[in-house]
Amino acid sequence: MAWAKFFRKPGGNLGKSYQPGSMLSLAPTKGLLNEPGQNSCFLNSAVQVLWQLDIFRRSLRQLPGHFCLGESCIFCALKGIFSQFQHSRERALPSDNLRHALAETFKDEQRFQLGFMDDAAECFENILERIHLHIVPEETDACTSKSCITHQKFAMSLYEQSVCRSCGASSDPLPFTELVHYVSTTALCQQMPQRRDESFGELLQAASTIGDLRNCPSNCGQRIRIRRVLMNSPEIVTIGFVWDSDQSDLTEDVIRSLGPHLSLSALFYRVTDEHAKKGELQLVGMICYSSRHYCAFAFHTKSSKWVFFDDATVKEVRGCCNHH
Ligand SMILES: [Zn+2]
Ligand SMILES: [Zn+2]
Ligand SMILES: [Zn+2]
Repeated sequence: MAWAKFFRKPGGNLGKSYQPGSMLSLAPTKGLLNEPGQNSCFLNSAVQVLWQLDIFRRSLRQLPGHFCLGESCIFCALKGIFSQFQHSRERALPSDNLRHALAETFKDEQRFQLGFMDDAAECFENILERIHLHIVPEETDACTSKSCITHQKFAMSLYEQSVCRSCGASSDPLPFTELVHYVSTTALCQQMPQRRDESFGELLQAASTIGDLRNCPSNCGQRIRIRRVLMNSPEIVTIGFVWDSDQSDLTEDVIRSLGPHLSLSALFYRVTDEHAKKGELQLVGMICYSSRHYCAFAFHTKSSKWVFFDDATVKEVRGCCNHH
């Protein structure tokens, strides 16, 4: 699975053009170690993107406290890495504490266990869910806590409904919350040829609804598309691309479909929040998977540059990526 993430950047400095030869410091960007056999690239990629997310980093720093789980506390382990990112003089840091906390937390599910490779998108999603539980220790889909970074910044509050064009019947709206909006790459590529003039958001909306036909709620015989309505205005939106197979020949098409901007009103059938209606999000991070390995790209706000993270290796991306 590969996936891309989008974030709203209020008044960022994306417009600044790249100056060849300028020696802007990329600190605090550091690599994360992945010793042979650790298979921590999925976690390292998720952590790098979270750290580079200004909104997330600042919000986490400002949180006054949390419900601590001691040795297996994902919250403490993440804060530990963040503080080392800031203060350590090493070029690459171990992510072992977080790896252990994650393995301990998910040992009943047998997920994210030590030494085993796992899915970066699900790791990212689970870290966010855990952060919610460390702040609001309840399993709730409708979290309204002002201090919950997960739901305040990342969650998309949606409802879905099917409305029949033929007989007018509509289903009861079904509300739900999403931290990652998953889209099938197969559906995306099927939609591309007939939607060349449409925006990236419209393409994603078509891809996530087209294959999902439901029966008319009053059973008139029509098969109808589902409508998804966004009710809040998330500051960070995460798109997860789902691949049907490990070896996909769709990679180039998917990359070609990626747009640097995403408007929320294009991504969903309707957007109710006034702020979200106008909201256009800027691509600021990406986690990629190929040859059984994860790496990440993130936009570094201070230098207005894209940075590539491959475990201990950190490189500035030069060239077209920095011309927005
Ligand atoms: Zn803790
Ligand atoms: Zn929450
Ligand atoms: Zn009908």
